[in-house]
Amino acid sequence: MRAEREWMVEHQLRRRGIEDERVLEAMARVPREAFLPLEERDRAYDDGAVPIGAGQTMSQPYMVALICEQLALRGLERVLDVGTGSGYQAAVLAELAAEVHTIERIPELAERARETLAALGYGARVHVHAGDGTRGLAEHAPYAAIAVAAAAPEPPPALYDQLELRGRLVVPVGDLREQRLEVVVRSPEGPAVLRSVPCRFVPLIGRDAF
Ligand code: SAM
Repeated sequence: MRAEREWMVEHQLRRRGIEDERVLEAMARVPREAFLPLEERDRAYDDGAVPIGAGQTMSQPYMVALICEQLALRGLERVLDVGTGSGYQAAVLAELAAEVHTIERIPELAERARETLAALGYGARVHVHAGDGTRGLAEHAPYAAIAVAAAAPEPPPALYDQLELRGRLVVPVGDLREQRLEVVVRSPEGPAVLRSVPCRFVPLIGRDAF
């Protein structure tokens, strides 16, 4: 699957404008197929989301790359990943930062992701938690970066509160039909919001979401 992974990096990511070489290298390293159920593995490098069970999906490669690029990671950061799903994005984040906490509301997905991440050698740097990620994970805050892989009507306030100063929160915002990826930067004056591309994610379900 290495050739397919390299094709994905060139055609789905670099040619569409992903420029951060660290992100491109990370996605060239992480074996996407290992995070999928056996019957979906031949779709691992499709240009779209892939079912992972429990009615959920692994995000499109381009969206994973865009979220990672917008987080502007340099390697030393502690990161929170909301919506673990398969664990694939958490593994890519672990290639880009020092420590990743990832939280998933469906316990069976959290357990499967924990096993996959451990089998691939990410167990020491990625900590999988089961629970409602709209509340963040206060016990490990603050975070230099927070990635959300499900759409919310507004950026959940608890996530902004758990950012470091100048930290970045990347979250799909909108209703169930139309969403945009938002980049929210914590500043002394309050949240600075940059609007990014239109996107389509499954809903974030929880206290400050749907
Ligand atoms: N990043 C994932 C991957 O690489 O496979 C993609 C995840 S999928 C698009 C979104 C995930 O968010 C689903 O697994 C869903 O159960 C989870 N989710 C939805 N609401 C959540 C919440 N409040 N807290 C944590 N996870 C949540």
